[in-house]
Amino acid sequence: MQDKVKLSVRSLVEYVYRSGSIETGFRTAVSLSEGTRIHQRIQKRYGEDDQKEVHFSAALFYGNLEFTLEGRCDGILLRNNERIIDEIKSVSRPINEINEDTYPVHWAQAKCYAFMYALDHHLKKMTVQLTYVQCDTNEEKRFRQILSFEKLEQFIQELLNSYAPYAEMKMMHKKNMMKSIQDLIFPFPNYREGQRKFAGAVYKTIAEGKSLYANAPTGIGKTISALFPAIKAIGEGEIHRIFYLTAKTITRQAAEEAIKLLTQSGLNHKTVTITAKDKICFKEETNCQKEYCEFAHGYYDRINGAILDLLANENLIDRKTVEKYALKHRVCPFEFSLDAAYAGDFIICDYNYIFDPRVSLRRFIEEDKKKSILLIDEAHNLVDRAREMYSATLDKSSFLQLSRSYKGRDEDIQQSAKRTNQAFIALKKKTGDQQVIAEKDYPDELLQELQVFSACAEKYLTRNKYEAEDELLDTYFAVQSFIRISQLYDERFITYMQKQRNDFRIKLFCLDPSHQLNQARKGFKSTIFFSATLKPFNFYKDMLGFKEDDYTLSIPSPFSIEQTQVYIQPLSTRFRDRGQSIEPIVNTIKVMLKENTGNYLIFFPSYQYMEEVYRRFLDEDLPFRSIIQRTGMDEKEREAFLAAFVPNAEKTLLGFAVMGGIFSEGVDLQGDRINGVFVVGVGLPQLGLERDLMKKYFHQKDKNGYDYAYTYPGMNKVLQAGGRLIRSETDSGIIVLIDDRYLHTKYQELLPQEWKDFKVLKR
Ligand code: SF4
Repeated sequence: MQDKVKLSVRSLVEYVYRSGSIETGFRTAVSLSEGTRIHQRIQKRYGEDDQKEVHFSAALFYGNLEFTLEGRCDGILLRNNERIIDEIKSVSRPINEINEDTYPVHWAQAKCYAFMYALDHHLKKMTVQLTYVQCDTNEEKRFRQILSFEKLEQFIQELLNSYAPYAEMKMMHKKNMMKSIQDLIFPFPNYREGQRKFAGAVYKTIAEGKSLYANAPTGIGKTISALFPAIKAIGEGEIHRIFYLTAKTITRQAAEEAIKLLTQSGLNHKTVTITAKDKICFKEETNCQKEYCEFAHGYYDRINGAILDLLANENLIDRKTVEKYALKHRVCPFEFSLDAAYAGDFIICDYNYIFDPRVSLRRFIEEDKKKSILLIDEAHNLVDRAREMYSATLDKSSFLQLSRSYKGRDEDIQQSAKRTNQAFIALKKKTGDQQVIAEKDYPDELLQELQVFSACAEKYLTRNKYEAEDELLDTYFAVQSFIRISQLYDERFITYMQKQRNDFRIKLFCLDPSHQLNQARKGFKSTIFFSATLKPFNFYKDMLGFKEDDYTLSIPSPFSIEQTQVYIQPLSTRFRDRGQSIEPIVNTIKVMLKENTGNYLIFFPSYQYMEEVYRRFLDEDLPFRSIIQRTGMDEKEREAFLAAFVPNAEKTLLGFAVMGGIFSEGVDLQGDRINGVFVVGVGLPQLGLERDLMKKYFHQKDKNGYDYAYTYPGMNKVLQAGGRLIRSETDSGIIVLIDDRYLHTKYQELLPQEWKDFKVLKR
């Protein structure tokens, strides 16, 4: 029996015809809406007997494979009793630079349609036409070829020849994977408490194509509980692909560990981890020009071979594996990981590859969305991350600078930058004596100028692709982002304008990201949001876009109350009282640790506060070892910090860290590696403009604005920090909450059940 492969014409020709180098900086792409407009304009001129948007499908046989090749051509024209395949292409480069051989991939696409049409209608020959339209000038240029059916058939066979090794490898892998999933058993002898419930809910949600919001506490093994049923759903044919999305490297590693475990249990898979470009880049400076980077130069000439080699030999394609094969084939590791992800069953990556409108991975996902699911780990982080993704900022100084530096060099850029700068000045005048003003509507006039600037910059960059200065490129990209966000702008956004020391800033600020998150995940079969701290649940459901028919699940902690001894030290750590709180905090530490040798983490709401207490602590000359988190620690420094936490310490170790930082989430110090956690303050974000705008907005929506903007996000950090202590049934220790607000009912209600039996310390 032959193996069936569904294949789009586009995927086939793009795979076979990729060649050349990575092009960065400015890409002469025509926007989707612009492309559609041009297509429609040409198609409107078609005659009565012409057809547009014609769907094709043909069964093609190659060795053991039966391809169902599908596609939609722009037009079939009837001229002098002859049928012509018309493929319309909008281009942003000047039309005189386009000649017959500029884009072989376009011919390939048109020839596929011509072949399918000729096959269907038993024609001996076909005419193929490429219609190019320059998107600024609307100039048109056409090329035609007449091809016999034999030539077309031979062409298709050659295409399949090139594609078949990849298709065969994927097919073979799919069979092996499906078989392995059928035999796959849960990789532990028993389900832990709550684990079966969570796994069951994940499976049911996927099977029904719904979404789930799950409070899944630490200790139930939530990574494996989410992955295992999702993998089983692949085995049942419910889905093809899993995106495992995280906010932090450490959680990505936890997902890789879970996959490793399943591999040991016999799972066959292709898992690709995507590491951020600036982290995985081989070069000192991330400058992706082929003239500078040998991994960009000729990337597309080598990529198919590199992918085949990688897929033939590896299953878990983590950062190290990507780097190894990227070096071997001299391809850019970042682009390589994206290309490998196309063939991946499980893709482990940051949230932004799905949710950020600036990131391109979303385009390739479109094809396969219905059969893909999103597992969103530590989903509480997505709220603030999404706010960043759906906001955009521009500074006046960029345009003033461009209007000066392009004087005499490019009249259009200079003039449009100047007019944009003037639009900024008009807005600045509106602020009057105030430092900052906020408005419901976005600045329409500024946006009109930005559109003009963008078009001028595009023209210039198209002409001077290789000499474009960073100054122009950076501003162009910032403008693009601003325009893109303005297209999403609705009542959930606000615009604020702020005077800076020597500048003036305007920001489209997303107050409530829930709607955008919903839009971005539309079309995926299921989304599973899970975290140990989706608390308060209603707040997170609200912020993450909960809909009525979505499922929710709350699993109680599997740990006993006796494992944690909670103390409250009722000091004021409010900003105004911090100076007076330093001494009592140091005393609290001293008293609590006097008789309790061990390892402790102490979390602060800010670096400054932490450093003040740390300095005072060192003055005391206590018999403790201490380490402190520094800003911008690299991976080695982070590892060294955590490695200091060794079990059965002879001397007490105190690790000073900040709440909401790299050591307060995702860190798993099991057993005796940690004996207690101190949390200073209630984690409130710093008072500030954006938080105040959020407060006002949610208040107007009849929510508790202060809690939405400050209390809930703050207490989430407290729960995460305290959550570093108990990681298994055998762990135990103390949690010391230092703030008098913990004695207020409101804050106590936000504490987990197992923390509520606390003792109050004396000052
Ligand atoms: S290796 Fe670095 S500089 Fe080279 S293409 Fe990749 S990301 Fe760009």
